[in-house]
Amino acid sequence: MFDSLRGRLLSSYILIILVALIVVAVALFGFASLTAVRDLPALQRLAAISLTNIYELRRLQESGADPGTFERFLSQTAQDHNVRILVANSATRQVIYDSGQENSWVGVFIDDVNKPRRLSFDVERNTVYGRFRHPNGSLWLVYSQPLQFFNRALIFYAQREPTAVEFFRDFFLEPLLWAGLAAFLLSILLAAWIARSVAKPLQHLATAAESVAHGDYGQRLPLEGPLEVKRVAASFNSMGEQVQAGRQSQHDFVTNVSHDLRTPITSISGWSQALLDGTAVTHEERHQAAGVIHDEAERMQRLVDELLDLAQIESGQLELALQAVDLTLLVNNIYQALSPRAEALGLVMNLETEPVPQVNGDADRLTQAISNIVENALIYTRHGGQVCLVVQPGLNNLVLIAIEDDGPGIPLAEQERIFERFYRLDKSRVRDERSRGSGLGLAIAKELVEAHRGWIELQSAEGRGSKFLIYLPVASGH
Ligand code: ADP
Repeated sequence: MFDSLRGRLLSSYILIILVALIVVAVALFGFASLTAVRDLPALQRLAAISLTNIYELRRLQESGADPGTFERFLSQTAQDHNVRILVANSATRQVIYDSGQENSWVGVFIDDVNKPRRLSFDVERNTVYGRFRHPNGSLWLVYSQPLQFFNRALIFYAQREPTAVEFFRDFFLEPLLWAGLAAFLLSILLAAWIARSVAKPLQHLATAAESVAHGDYGQRLPLEGPLEVKRVAASFNSMGEQVQAGRQSQHDFVTNVSHDLRTPITSISGWSQALLDGTAVTHEERHQAAGVIHDEAERMQRLVDELLDLAQIESGQLELALQAVDLTLLVNNIYQALSPRAEALGLVMNLETEPVPQVNGDADRLTQAISNIVENALIYTRHGGQVCLVVQPGLNNLVLIAIEDDGPGIPLAEQERIFERFYRLDKSRVRDERSRGSGLGLAIAKELVEAHRGWIELQSAEGRGSKFLIYLPVASGH
């Protein structure tokens, strides 16, 4: 029972109810222990009985009833109201008649009656009322209103003073028990209602999670129930979206890789077939076949290398060999290495550097990231175009490397996406399909720069060239 939410709620409610009832009971018991509180209702009752008897007593007195008739009347009244009626001499206050079975009061002097303290009780003058200790030690409440027509005797109405326990039992126990029962029933309903409002969405969550486990990644949950449950549902939904996106990107990845491998493999298999079956006969033809096979194999090698790099970065296994790096020197090296290629493509490549503070980085990885961007500039800029490399100090302890070209530019809508894996703009932009990359270059560059706590920005517009800005933080202490 205590395993279920409902059971736990219910048991905690019962505990709270019990504690509340005990606190109330203790407070009420304390209240019942005050004699003024306890005695008042009893004295009022005695007063009421006395009052109702006056008329009958007067009638008996006036009709000259004998003592026997009086006795019978008083004894009957005592029985009817479950009180003790005592008749005492009004001068001496000595009891001469007792309605009780055993005449324990006869002869007792009721002369020391104490009014309980702090008891406000509206009575006629001369009325004797209060607590009286019987010679046998028992405590009584007595009430007597002197009657003019009955001046030789005093009629006392008496009852035992209730103890605190009796008073509590008579006045408070029953209401407390009813309150406890009502609270208990209410708590059962409340626990069932709350448990349902939590359990139902959780049940939905369990079913949805099972569906996801069976491959239905489109499962989403309605946001219902208490705040915490809503939060769980929202987390589940966002997890579902991520899993779905992950599955989609895995699917795209396999499609892209197989597509990118198919072209060189088809080419290699075609040209090697030509070599084997003797279709390529002349020296030039054989040379061409071998050249294509070599280029395609290199292209495949590049793709595999890039994939491995990306996998390493994304799995967090990339280890940077950090050292102080002079970016002016590093970019200068890239410039020297790629200048022949720029020249061969009919491009003008410029280098503008200013002295910059050193950064803390992995020189090989930074070279790889920057080269990817410079190579893109060379590939996508038309013959006669210009590519400019700039290194300069940036604001806020940053070094800025800018790679600017006057190529076709990148439409605004595509600027976010070109940093995604395998994302390429349309084919018409590449002058030679062979020089077409895998679509991984910018994704790798972005990851590598971010691994150095830097970032890449792009300023470009269609037809207006592109400017890639790489920001890297200066090594502390420089
Ligand atoms: P790729 O290997 O295809 O070059 P990248 O990730 O390096 O892949 O680049 C993604 C796409 O961004 C390229 O296919 C190209 O369309 C576009 N792009 C990158 N650099 C430039 C540039 N300097 N000018 C115009 N388009 C570019």
